[in-house]
Amino acid sequence: MSQDSSHFDPELAITQVRREFGEHGGVAPSIERSSTFTVMEPGIMPDIFDGKRSPDREGCYLYSRHFNPTIDVLDRYLAAMEGTEFAVGTASGMAAISCALLQLCDAGSHIVSSSTIYGGTHALLAQLLPRHGIQTSFVHPRDIGAFEAAIQPNTKVIYAETMGNPTLAIPNIEALANLAHKHGIQLVVDNTFAPMVMSPARHGADIVVYSMTKYVNGASDLLAGCICCSREFGHSLYDLQTGCAMLLGPTMDPRVAFDIMQRLPHLAIRMREHGRRALAIAERLQDLGLRVLYPGLSTHPDYDLAQTLVNPGYGYGGMLALDCETQERANELMGVLQNEVGFGLIAVSLGYFDTLMSVSSCSTSSEIPDEEQTKMGLNPGLLRLSVGISGSLESRLAQIEKGVKKVFSS
Ligand code: PLP
Repeated sequence: MSQDSSHFDPELAITQVRREFGEHGGVAPSIERSSTFTVMEPGIMPDIFDGKRSPDREGCYLYSRHFNPTIDVLDRYLAAMEGTEFAVGTASGMAAISCALLQLCDAGSHIVSSSTIYGGTHALLAQLLPRHGIQTSFVHPRDIGAFEAAIQPNTKVIYAETMGNPTLAIPNIEALANLAHKHGIQLVVDNTFAPMVMSPARHGADIVVYSMTKYVNGASDLLAGCICCSREFGHSLYDLQTGCAMLLGPTMDPRVAFDIMQRLPHLAIRMREHGRRALAIAERLQDLGLRVLYPGLSTHPDYDLAQTLVNPGYGYGGMLALDCETQERANELMGVLQNEVGFGLIAVSLGYFDTLMSVSSCSTSSEIPDEEQTKMGLNPGLLRLSVGISGSLESRLAQIEKGVKKVFSS
C-alpha cells in the first residue's frame, strides 16, 4: 500500500474504477440476488473449491456467502476509495470489526487498543474476546509511548479509530503504523467518522474498517460495514477452512450493496457539507463561550495533527461534542433543541441528513466503565452531535443558538 498521502483524492479514485452498467446497459448496476450460481461444466466446481478458479480466474460465481457479483462491484469502489487492494463488504460495522480481529488473532493473542472507541467495540474487546482467549490493553489514543509500552510478545493488533468516539481524539496514524510494523503487528483503524476526510491506509494502516451504516450510506435506513485491506488478507478472510468472512457468515445483502453504490457518488458532497456546517456550528458555540470538541477548531488538542492526516478539501467531518458539564443539562438541551426549536433528533448513530444528538456516557459509550470514561476525557455531560445537512445553515445556527442560550442561562 502506498503511503504517499499528499495527493490522494478518494472521490477521484472511485470515479476511476466506476465502470459498471446494468444487465441491459442500465446506468445503474444490476442487483444479483441469487444465493447460488450455475456451473456450466461439472469439472469447474471442484476447481473452485480447490481455490484454482474464482470469478476473476477462469471460474464463475458459486455461492453468495463466498462471492456475489453485486457486492464485488461495491467492494471494488470501496477499495478504490480507501486506497487498498481489496475490500470486503459486511452486514454491519461490528461484523467488519469482529471478523478482521478474529482473522488476525488466535486464542492467546493480545491487542493494544485506543481507549477512545465506540462502546460496542470496547465491549467486544473487553468482554467478549477474553472469553475466547484474546486479551486487550487499552491506552490513551494520544500516548504513543503507552501503545509501545503495552506491546507484548503475543500482541497481534494495534487498534484505533481515526476520530475517537465520542471525544474526537485523533491518534497519530503514521506513528502507530511505524510502531506496529517495527514489532511485526497489524494496525487496524476504524474510519467510520471520517470517510474521504481521512484515508488511514495511505498513512500506513494495514486494515481499515467501517460501519457504513453511518456516513457512507448516509440515509440511516440500513446496516452495513466493510474491511479494506490487502489482497492477501482479503483472501484469508474467504479461506474455506479458516476464513472469518466465509465461516462466521457476516455477509452483506446484495440489495444493501446496491443501495450503498447509488449513494457513494454523493458521499464527497455530503462529507464536505457535513464538515462545513459542523465547523460553523462549532465556531458559533465556541463564540458563545462553550467548550466544544471539533478537530477543525484550532482549540482542539489534535488540530495540528489533523492537518497532516486530512485529505485536502474534505473538511474535518460532521461530528462534534459539546460539553454541557452535567448529564441533566445535556438532556435538557437535547429536549429543547428537538422539541422547542426544531433542531435535530434525539437519536444514536450518525451520518444522517438531519442532526442526530445523544449523550454518549449513557448511550453509545455506556458499555465503557465510568472510571475508563473519565480517563478518556468523556464526562457525563458530553453531548455528541452528528451535524446534519438539511435546512439552511443560517436557520440552523439561529436554532442552536436559541436553544443553547435558553438552557445555559437558566
Ligand atoms: N464503529 C463506530 C465508530 C461506531 O460508531 C459504530 C456504531 O455506532 C460501529 C463501529 C458499529 O457499527 P454497526 O452499528 O454498523 O455495527
